[in-house]
Amino acid sequence: MQGFFDEGDLIAVMTTQPLDRALDYRAPEGGCMTGAFVEVPLGPRKVLGVVWGRGEGGYDLAKVRRVIRVLDAVSMRDEMQQFLRRAADYTLTPMPAMLRLATRSPGLGDPPSMRVVYRLGDAAPDRMTDARAKVLEVLRDYGGLAFTLKELADSAGVTSSVIKGLVKQGAVVEQESPRDTPYPRLDPDRPGHDLTDDQAAAAAQLAQAVTAATYGTTMLRGVTGSGKTEVYLEAVAACLRAGRQALVLLPEIALTSEFLTRVQERFGVLPAEWHSGVTMTERRRCWRMVGEGGAQMVVGARSALFLPFRDLGLIVVDEEHDTSYKQEDGVLYNARDMAVLRASLCSAHVVLASATPSLETWANVEAGKYARLDLTSRFGAAIMPEMRAVDMRAEDLPGGKWISPTLAQGVMKRLETGEQSLLFLNRRGYAPITLCRACGHQIGCDHCDARMVEHRFLKRLVCHQCGETKPMPEKCPNCEAEDRMSPVGPGVERLAEEATALFPDARIAVLSSDLFGSARAMKQQIEQIAAGGADIIIGTQLVAKGHNFPLLTLVGVIDADLGLQGSDLRAAERTFQLMRQVAGRAGRADKPGTALLQTYQPEHPVIRAILAGDEERFWSAEAAERRHAGVPPYGRMAGIILSSPNVQQVFDVAADMARRDQPLRRIGAQLFGPAPAPIARIRGRHRVRLLIKADKAAPLQAALAEWVAQFRLPSSLRLSIDIDPQSFY
Ligand code: ADP
Ligand code: ZN
Repeated sequence: MQGFFDEGDLIAVMTTQPLDRALDYRAPEGGCMTGAFVEVPLGPRKVLGVVWGRGEGGYDLAKVRRVIRVLDAVSMRDEMQQFLRRAADYTLTPMPAMLRLATRSPGLGDPPSMRVVYRLGDAAPDRMTDARAKVLEVLRDYGGLAFTLKELADSAGVTSSVIKGLVKQGAVVEQESPRDTPYPRLDPDRPGHDLTDDQAAAAAQLAQAVTAATYGTTMLRGVTGSGKTEVYLEAVAACLRAGRQALVLLPEIALTSEFLTRVQERFGVLPAEWHSGVTMTERRRCWRMVGEGGAQMVVGARSALFLPFRDLGLIVVDEEHDTSYKQEDGVLYNARDMAVLRASLCSAHVVLASATPSLETWANVEAGKYARLDLTSRFGAAIMPEMRAVDMRAEDLPGGKWISPTLAQGVMKRLETGEQSLLFLNRRGYAPITLCRACGHQIGCDHCDARMVEHRFLKRLVCHQCGETKPMPEKCPNCEAEDRMSPVGPGVERLAEEATALFPDARIAVLSSDLFGSARAMKQQIEQIAAGGADIIIGTQLVAKGHNFPLLTLVGVIDADLGLQGSDLRAAERTFQLMRQVAGRAGRADKPGTALLQTYQPEHPVIRAILAGDEERFWSAEAAERRHAGVPPYGRMAGIILSSPNVQQVFDVAADMARRDQPLRRIGAQLFGPAPAPIARIRGRHRVRLLIKADKAAPLQAALAEWVAQFRLPSSLRLSIDIDPQSFY
């Protein structure tokens, strides 16, 4: 596919504009390669594009315009083009939208140049002010990274004159630097930890797989704390030794700083970072250096899969079961599956690490498509916590309270011995429902079909769907009764209130994603808590994601039944994973932990499987059920969401689509719906859902494309196709 075009040749250019095909242009002076990033005229504008191949012709050739210029960036590799095509075909995404993911570098077209940057200096300022301290703190936090004046001012929340003041004193240095510089070299031969036999065997196997430089995928499974990270860092080392690049995907930005520290300990310097918390300057540098070979290792969020790697040899997907790998906005793709696709196109190895792998991954292991490695014990003396159910039917608990006497006793014991307890509740805010005691009215969002959640911390009601907030009303908006609005059900803030009353002398910390202004503030608080800065941690699922709390020995799950209520086909799987992950927080160091699960249905098969700790049994039961129902991973599904401000229109179109479903029937697929989507209105748009279920081997995408192409949709109506839907919004 790679080829060179001489000046004036007819070429096809794919732009990032919402058109459904490549456009023809003439190659510019000096010619260009397939894959070159170019600027082309489109109507009155200049837009970014990639030379896609030879032009199609077949129309008035005199009108074909010329490429304006070839950008100074490494051409898109053939392998990336293939990846984008395959990913677009799989997710039924128009190519321009796919291409946007691969061109997310700020200033892609800018020539290399110098710029003024700011770094930490040696001198101390004569006088420390809050503003000055903030600037220095930001610079220290980002260890050695350079900032532009604006980035530094914005990150620290100060004016640029504060920074200039620090420059005069030598506390901050101002220097000219090339825009993008290579990252310092990581040294794979620095000594790592001495691995246990288990770990060493797994590390050797991964290293061998990476060195083979052929495609393969390995599931790396082991309880939290068993050393999965230690082991896959050895795979990274093998990859670096082979001179290839490594990518590690993490599900949550909040986890990166802890991980970066470990990379630095192992390889001597920090790797490149790619996620929404990174400054534009660093993002540009990362994108460029990945393409030019000046970055050996990238730690990032799912979009890092679309970086222009020169020679990618390893992709690690850490916590591979995590639902945040599924992009739920714009291009709907699952980063875990795309990692496998990407690796298969560039002879790289994939490591899927998790304590609780997804059923999809189990099924692929079972089918012989993925290799499997297990780490069976926790590192050091730590063992899996003892897990017990607290049967809430037998507990004496007044209404409006959620901490059972049994759990309270456990916490009390930890307070006496100076150990930590975690109370886990996956509900942000104070109370999920605000109800009028006089008329029964529940306060809902004006734009969504969702209840407003009270956040006392913010002193407002918040819609968790669209983010809309409003003040807590004094009168019921329905019956105007005064002082009758009251909270129903628990959120973490309310739980904190209860804990404060029960344990007045304890230091209580609430960990919930909405309570932090920034990833940095969150990281700081987590570190402080881990070091013993709190006796009781109250948290949402944020805490389930891989943080280390060595002093923690008791986990109380406030409502183990919460996840079992949905109609989601993965409800059992999610609950199982979440509970195991949370329980895995206890007893990491030398003290054994206990996990108490408060439940009203201790005999539920999922609760029993969690308590028994019998993972294989849970998975085989779950697999049998899904196989029987013909749902993923044993069947295929696609979700279609139609939305429009006009409720009649959206139902009419959906009904019409359901009627004309021949292309789907031809492949034996079943169509369900139309039905109001589980959240029937978001941001004022009414939503209707169609679900399609097909055999594993059926050509689902082709049939869907043919089916959808039959309809001319009104412009106010949006249609989105979600292949392998994860959430059923
Ligand atoms: P996982 O990724 O499975 O949760 P980690 O790799 O994070 O496990 O290991 C848990 C903790 O134990 C970490 O603090 C890690 O540094 C430590 N650890 C694991 N294996 C070893 C080892 N062989 N030597 C020293 N420390 C280890
Ligand atoms: Zn809303």
